[in-house]
Amino acid sequence: MRPSVLDPYFASVTSLPGIGPKLAPLFDRLVAEPGQPARILDLLLHLPRAGIDRRVGASIADAPAGQPVTLAVRVAEHRPAPPGRARAPYRVLVEDETGDVTLVFFKAQRGWMEKLLPVGETRFVSGTIELWDGRRQMVHPDRILDARGFAALPDVEPVYGQTEGLGTRVVAKAVAAALERAPALPEWQDAAWLAREGLPPFRDALAALHQPDSPLALSPEALVRSPARRRLAYDELLATQLALGLVRAQAKRPAGRAIVPDGTIVARVAAALPFRLTASQERAVAEIAGDLASGRRMLRLLQGDVGSGKTAVALMAMAIAAGAGRQSALMAPTDILARQHAARLAPMAAAAGLSVAALTGRDKGRSRSAILEGLASGTIDIVVGTHALFQDDVRFRDLGLAVVDEQHRFGVHQRLALGAKGEAVDVLVMTATPIPRTLALTYFGDMDVSVLSEKPAGRQPISTRALPLERLDEVVGAVGRAVEAGARVYWICPLVAESETIDVAAAQDRHEHLRALFGARVGLLHGKMSGRDKDAAMADFASGRTAVLVSTTVVEVGVDVPEATIMVIEHAERFGLAQLHQLRGRIGRGADASTCLLLYKAPLGETAKARIAIMRETEDGFRIADEDLKLRGEGEMLGTRQSGAPDFRLADFAADGDLIAAARDDARLVIERDPNLEGERGQALRALLYLFERDAAIRLLRAG
Ligand code: ADP
Ligand code: MG
Repeated sequence: MRPSVLDPYFASVTSLPGIGPKLAPLFDRLVAEPGQPARILDLLLHLPRAGIDRRVGASIADAPAGQPVTLAVRVAEHRPAPPGRARAPYRVLVEDETGDVTLVFFKAQRGWMEKLLPVGETRFVSGTIELWDGRRQMVHPDRILDARGFAALPDVEPVYGQTEGLGTRVVAKAVAAALERAPALPEWQDAAWLAREGLPPFRDALAALHQPDSPLALSPEALVRSPARRRLAYDELLATQLALGLVRAQAKRPAGRAIVPDGTIVARVAAALPFRLTASQERAVAEIAGDLASGRRMLRLLQGDVGSGKTAVALMAMAIAAGAGRQSALMAPTDILARQHAARLAPMAAAAGLSVAALTGRDKGRSRSAILEGLASGTIDIVVGTHALFQDDVRFRDLGLAVVDEQHRFGVHQRLALGAKGEAVDVLVMTATPIPRTLALTYFGDMDVSVLSEKPAGRQPISTRALPLERLDEVVGAVGRAVEAGARVYWICPLVAESETIDVAAAQDRHEHLRALFGARVGLLHGKMSGRDKDAAMADFASGRTAVLVSTTVVEVGVDVPEATIMVIEHAERFGLAQLHQLRGRIGRGADASTCLLLYKAPLGETAKARIAIMRETEDGFRIADEDLKLRGEGEMLGTRQSGAPDFRLADFAADGDLIAAARDDARLVIERDPNLEGERGQALRALLYLFERDAAIRLLRAG
């Protein structure tokens, strides 16, 4: 149960004055997790991007042009638009001892203007001064206030990220009201540590960030060092480490059931593999077998670059579980990937008499109940699925092993949710996104790790080339010749943030264009297609019925068509490095040489240029990940959401590296001293876990 002190934080934003049914969906879109209603907490964690100084700064003569200023002025004269020229602006001349400024308004009403700016009176005016013909003017000031209104205004006005229909001032008002509702909370951090680091309490940190006392306090440079932001970042990191630590502590309890398989099933699956495992696959399988056979619960990360063959390792692990009579679940991030895995695994599993099913959001009605039935009765040995596996009515006869593919797409709490579906479930998580050291620590705590350090033999290096989009026709010609010669080609159209519809349109256009040239051998795949059409498009491409697959980034993770040898990426400059690496990883999977063409729009910015250079230089995922972190480190304060980094709202890996290690040590100490979070600090820490949505870990406390 959530501690009741948190209730005001978890109340809906609609409980704030002025937020009714019209504004609520806008706030949902702006601050909440997709599909969730916005809560006061979400609003408070929506930090301002900048601050505008509303203190009266310079006199008119000294006020700088081109940036927001606030002036105290006397209203000198109104100059309405001349009669008959309704489109001419309404001007008001204002002055102080040092000079004058013309305020310019379009579509202004005389009566209203005279009330707003009475001649002879003093008013406070904020806005941006421009020079026009050597004269100062201010078009549509942001604010015009009398002395009373001005006194009520904060010195620094926060500026928020906004969404269509919801301006920064409405957000600011809501945040101010939210701050009033939000109570101080019992301290969960070590008091001595806070004092030493000079960090404020949680509630004060929020207030300091939303109501800064200087506009500079919100600049990226100041934020990196800001005690208020660091405090919240540390809270988030500690919540994550604590959740991981609790999972870990539970895993270490000897509650696991030893999985000792019947060797024939494992041997049959191994014999059905169409290749011999590489040495590092063998090693990983042996490490996993060791974990499973031990009485303690497995929590292992399998890390291997794209194309290194993680799926085969997962299959062997699941065969071991099945050999001991227990079921396995393999979680994939997308519907396409789940179905691909199921289709791949089924024949090899069948060779050992095991049955495989797929379960995704697409399964409804009778087909879904048949699968649920098979899982509950145990006739299904291996299920491959998406988030649909987490649903409450999915029950297993005896789930022994949960495998999570493309781990970075899932959160800690989701991993936990699967683990809770069986008794002493062993967990294997697989990731292709190479994770730099600091991130690994943050994300996985101290899990056991197996690494696939080599790719299957016989792979050839991918040749990567960059070309400006002007040379599209040449590329199309070359693709045409390659298709004639029997090649299979991915053609990726980029994802434009925020608008799936536009992306899809771009892919559809390119599909039509190529189809006009190459005929029916050009397929199309995007996220808005029905599940069945997606399957058909994938199946056509895998079987060679289509030779070119025009697609949005839905093929980014995991898709495996070894015959594909060409990857064209349009607008490569719009992709992050991790994403480019993932996309390129779709080719170079067979014995034939592969080519990746990065089409970019010239001129390239510095970062995009560096990214493309790195892509051309190396295929090594670890190097690419390190370079990625370097390139993204600066400038992108809070932008860790994309491409493989875990969902942190506040912590920043470049700036807060020192805090990550501190949080891990702190979490360890807490768990050692108060493993069930029952003491005074433990109780407060429970609240912290809820605030940062790491509360699934609390369920473990109860279960254990
Ligand atoms: P990833 O690690 O990216 O998930 P996959 O498991 O999809 O990689 O494997 C990539 C490709 O390599 C697949 O086509 C798979 O069948 C093939 N493969 C995996 N292991 C081997 C091996 N030991 N020898 C040859 N091919 C292999
Ligand atoms: Mg994979």
